[in-house]
Amino acid sequence: MIIVLKPECTDEQIDHIQEQIVSLGLKPELSRGVKRTLIGVIGEEDLLRSAPLEAFPGVETVMPILKPYKRASREFQAEDSVFDLGHGVRIGGGALGMVAGPCAIEGHAVLLEIGTAVKAAGANILRGGAFKPRTSPYSFQGMGEEGLEILRNVGDELQMPVITEVMDPRQVELVDRYTDVFQVGARNMQNFNLLSEVGKTSKPVMLKRGMSATISDLLMSAEYILASGNKEVILCERGIRSFDNSTRNLLDLAMVPNIQQTCHLPIIVDPSHATGRPELIPAMARAAVASGADGVHIEVHSCPEKAMSDGSQALLPDQYAGVMEELKQLAALFDKVIPVPQEQGE
Ligand code: PEP
Ligand code: MN
Repeated sequence: MIIVLKPECTDEQIDHIQEQIVSLGLKPELSRGVKRTLIGVIGEEDLLRSAPLEAFPGVETVMPILKPYKRASREFQAEDSVFDLGHGVRIGGGALGMVAGPCAIEGHAVLLEIGTAVKAAGANILRGGAFKPRTSPYSFQGMGEEGLEILRNVGDELQMPVITEVMDPRQVELVDRYTDVFQVGARNMQNFNLLSEVGKTSKPVMLKRGMSATISDLLMSAEYILASGNKEVILCERGIRSFDNSTRNLLDLAMVPNIQQTCHLPIIVDPSHATGRPELIPAMARAAVASGADGVHIEVHSCPEKAMSDGSQALLPDQYAGVMEELKQLAALFDKVIPVPQEQGE
């Protein structure tokens, strides 16, 4: 239920309405927008029907939220969400998050080399996996906590926010100690225990679309995180399974404007996992920005042939710099900004 308040509604009136909601055993969520102030109430909406909230001073209308996802919907919050990822890097509302780095963290020197190059090219979030969800149990599974430490140190040295994948609810506390942004991978998009656990943290979560997930599945998974208290969910399109195997997955770019119509969360596009082919990544990255995405996620490696994971889809740092030059021009054309990470004191 959304309670739309009159523009002239006073703080005392807002308190009075919220007290009434709490007395019914429900939780009000106040949202002060630029244009309107709303109170969202999610739960047993029937309880509210017994209270004539329309009659309360300051209330303009009371509307049901029609979408099955509530907190993620624009009915709940009309304006785009904007999140601060650290080092002054924002995402959403016209600010683009440019995530780049190797698939897996392999060591300090190589991550620093890649990180230095992608930052110089304009990336504003450094990625690297310490826990890798591999299709085969015999493939490299990641460096674990040692990898997390390397990522944190390189992020601090380069003064840029870092993102890394968390695969298990039992790892959330550990990963939280090192990362600025959690990544929930495609294979875990419907790991509801994991979603609830990252939902209890206060760090942004990038939620990747499952390979056979519908848009509604993705938004319902985002809702799990939001319902646990964490408002900072970034969606990520990384391609879905198709009958065609000439690319690794099928990039569903239409999902960007599609989701943006009804959902206020930022959306990043990952052309690396979507295509699996370095020569297709620049065109799909350009298309992502042109489609209105709030960022682009690209895997980069200084020596793809030696990469321990996903080397065949990695761009070389120079290739990444070429893509970023084009993305900067497109960003300017579409009135978007690519925040530059700022130094951050202790
Ligand atoms: C990754 O980002 O390295 C990854 C494993 O991605 P996805 O979950 O989209 O397959
Ligand atoms: Mn990868």
